Amino acid sequence: MKTISEYVRRLEEHKGPVNPEYYGVYERSVYKKEKYTVFMTRLQDGSDRLCAFGAHPFNGIERDGYTECELTHENATILKREFLFCAPKPVLSTCKCTFGVGDRLGRATPGHLRVFEKYDATPVLAQQSMRELTLTGRTYQSVMDDVAFFVFREGYEGGYGADGDHLKNIDDIGNALEDGCTMITLDLSEHIHKLGTDHVPAADQNVKDRYLGKEFTLADGTVLTFSEEELDTIAAIYSEAMDFTQRVYETYFAAGKYSADLEVSIDETDVSTTPLQHFFVANELTERGVKFATIAPRFSGEFQKGIDYIGDLDVFTAELKVHQAIAETFGYKLSVHSGSDKFSVFPVIGEITKGHFHIKTSGTNWLEAMRLVAMEDPKLYRNIHKYALTVFAQAKAYYHVSGNPAAVPDVDTLRDDQLPMLFDMTDSRQLIHITYGFILNHPIFGPALKALWTKEHQWYEALLKELLMKHMECLKIPFVSYM
Ligand SMILES: [Zn+2]
Repeated sequence: MKTISEYVRRLEEHKGPVNPEYYGVYERSVYKKEKYTVFMTRLQDGSDRLCAFGAHPFNGIERDGYTECELTHENATILKREFLFCAPKPVLSTCKCTFGVGDRLGRATPGHLRVFEKYDATPVLAQQSMRELTLTGRTYQSVMDDVAFFVFREGYEGGYGADGDHLKNIDDIGNALEDGCTMITLDLSEHIHKLGTDHVPAADQNVKDRYLGKEFTLADGTVLTFSEEELDTIAAIYSEAMDFTQRVYETYFAAGKYSADLEVSIDETDVSTTPLQHFFVANELTERGVKFATIAPRFSGEFQKGIDYIGDLDVFTAELKVHQAIAETFGYKLSVHSGSDKFSVFPVIGEITKGHFHIKTSGTNWLEAMRLVAMEDPKLYRNIHKYALTVFAQAKAYYHVSGNPAAVPDVDTLRDDQLPMLFDMTDSRQLIHITYGFILNHPIFGPALKALWTKEHQWYEALLKELLMKHMECLKIPFVSYM
């Protein structure tokens, strides 16, 4: 490989065509401004650096004719200021189809961007929950810096959002917004009341006046009415959640200090959200002046992590039609959670929403990274797999899965070439899916995995690309090319 200095000299002198690959430079990252040129390069150890020459604003070490800059928070901030496409935007309310893709490992974004540049969907790239940040030892700031550098490296100018995902606590929301999140997914699960067999208190008179004896006509002509019993129950379940949402909205959103969208998430419940409940939530928030971009209801059936939909497709379809009509009536879009690999319901979602939806996917990127390990280093994979079995019970406390580790074949009885097939089976997918925090934080497995993924980054990108394209195709997202 020739040196970066030579590359810089050739760029400066405009001497014929320069093949960036030849110098370890990321081809799409070469940007020329009036007074300087900046690009990204890959060092021998697999890490990336920003290189700039001319009168540039970045901070780094002076080399022979250029400045070599580490990917620090300071340089990320400069990058976002100089190249606006590197900064996240509130895309939920402005783009028709938005697609959340988390990246637990901080390695998936390049593969994702190769797909987004071909489809009419806008990515929400930094989509992390507090739980994921804790388990992976990252912060919103580091996640968003990683994303900004990747967006620059890949020359992706299509715009993207950043999601403070499933936040429950008012301080966490403030921190995520301060760190630059352009979307907050407000998780109301701790404020949605579970009703036992006790006597349900009557709804407030004010609520009764606004709902009882009224007909609510939806965009598709469906008419909803509340009986007194239904209204009492719904008010008892959701009133406190409505108060909390209003408080969050008034604290952070009403004054317009942050450029961010609000998603109201009522999906983390045991039972599915009925059309009347969904309508009540949307209507209450609207009457309280709360502006939101999306609501995530809990759909019928099971949207478990990392596997296809479990449930009755006809029931799901019928419910989705009413939920969509409610969303259309108020003018927001539906959000579908745990949308990874729900291939059997994707065509219905694409059709009924007419392509107007937000979907959150995430964890299966991690599964693809582990599939790669099973293909590339069977011995390492077997050891990790056995370790995952020992911590599965602990990990289950964090995630709702029905996977049964006892049903996973003994890895010692499988041939090397059979190991990747474990990633096509529900029980083993869930085993690896939920134990990621334990695996990554393991003193031996963590570093070994990072070394392997760094070495095989192109292979990983190819696996992710294939998986994400399958999602796009099933959801019937139109193929475009902005580049
Ligand atoms: Zn959710």
